Amino acid sequence: MKKYSQFNSLLPYENQYFLYNSYQQKTIFLEEELKELLEAAIHEGIDNLKEVHPSFFDYLVESGFVVDSSFDEVQQVKDISKKIDENTDFFLLTVNPTMNCNFKCWYCYETHIKDSRLETSVLDSIQSFITKTINKENIKFFSLAFFGGEPLLYFEKNVKPLVEHLKRENDHSNKMIHVSFTTNGYLINQDFIDYFNSVDIKPHLQITLDGYKDEHDKVRFVSKKKGSYDEIVRNIIFLANNEFPVNVRINFTDENLSNSSKIVEDFKEVSEEAKEKYLKFDFHRVWQNNQIDDLDKTLHEIREQFEIWGLRTNSNNSPNNIQNSCYADKRNSATVNYNGDLFKCTARDFLTENRGGYLSEEGDLIWENDYLERRMDAKFSNKPCLSCRIMPLCNGGCSQHAMEYKEANDEYCIYQGDENEKSKIVYTKVEEIINAELQEA
Ligand code: SF4
Ligand code: SF4
Repeated sequence: MKKYSQFNSLLPYENQYFLYNSYQQKTIFLEEELKELLEAAIHEGIDNLKEVHPSFFDYLVESGFVVDSSFDEVQQVKDISKKIDENTDFFLLTVNPTMNCNFKCWYCYETHIKDSRLETSVLDSIQSFITKTINKENIKFFSLAFFGGEPLLYFEKNVKPLVEHLKRENDHSNKMIHVSFTTNGYLINQDFIDYFNSVDIKPHLQITLDGYKDEHDKVRFVSKKKGSYDEIVRNIIFLANNEFPVNVRINFTDENLSNSSKIVEDFKEVSEEAKEKYLKFDFHRVWQNNQIDDLDKTLHEIREQFEIWGLRTNSNNSPNNIQNSCYADKRNSATVNYNGDLFKCTARDFLTENRGGYLSEEGDLIWENDYLERRMDAKFSNKPCLSCRIMPLCNGGCSQHAMEYKEANDEYCIYQGDENEKSKIVYTKVEEIINAELQEA
């Protein structure tokens, strides 16, 4: 006995239909007649299709659109998720050298803590943690990420000692190392480039634009009279031309998205090599503005304009939350605040009362109140996701989301259970498949 996979979506597309499976991430296109045969079989029992159209049935089985009726599809996703999140080949350490910032953006100004910076004792503990971890046999890759506040504010005293320690330790452990910054990009200069060239590390940078110049400068400014768009764009280009990879995160809302198409004008002249290898634009809808609407179409058109100029884009309406789960979902990841408090993710505030634990003097991660296990167990506890057709892509978002709802004993759906919204994700995925095939052809 067979069953129609719970992860299938059968949807109209131009003059035909497609069948898409969110676990296999595969699609096939169907003419009206085949689609009707399939619909009848879904209704009457998929095994009937074997008699009516054996080759079609066999194809659906081979491709995973139809599975054994005893097969536990959800368990299969759980197993993959566990394998990915419990992988201990690597460690991802994020450090907030400060909670202070040189900008006064309305949405985070309140959380600035003037004069906050890594205490010497915490810096020493982080170094001990790096030494212990990178020398573990199972660790093949160590990533050191700087977040904040603005991590480049105290570059000399807080960032360099950690980068140099990592490099020194790695000289004899010989693992793969990676350094990255989430920065507003304002303080990037020649010294930054020269320094990293001298230590032979090319850090990755994530730099945010809050829409095009007018909107951006209203939100991200050094002072009421001085915006930051022009300097930041100049610094992004400077980095990319010096072969430093930059992910430009474009935060958008329904109000600033259409104007964001003008950003492309500022990057047209970047070298072809930099466009191809070092620059990527990641469109990200601001979560406070996530109402259901038709913004996807505008986003699609804007991404096309970027792509025409050879600028690579991505967007958060194409989730892949199991295969590509957030760093904070992984067991081997931690965020250390300037005062030694421990967190998993960087998208919540860093108040001591919300910490998951602390970094001990000896450089050990001490998770309090079973925080790490609670977090690692949080996924797959939201009932609506377990029967959802796009669960292998979405799964209710990240473990932060999952844990907050689980502990509040609440059920949720990121898309408010709206099947049309789920279908939009499916259309995005199918278009990605089509585009990839066109590029290969
Ligand atoms: S909120 Fe979720 S996606 Fe964002 S950093 Fe935290 S865990 Fe990751
Ligand atoms: S959050 Fe909603 S769309 Fe996402 S997997 Fe759960 S039920 Fe499906």
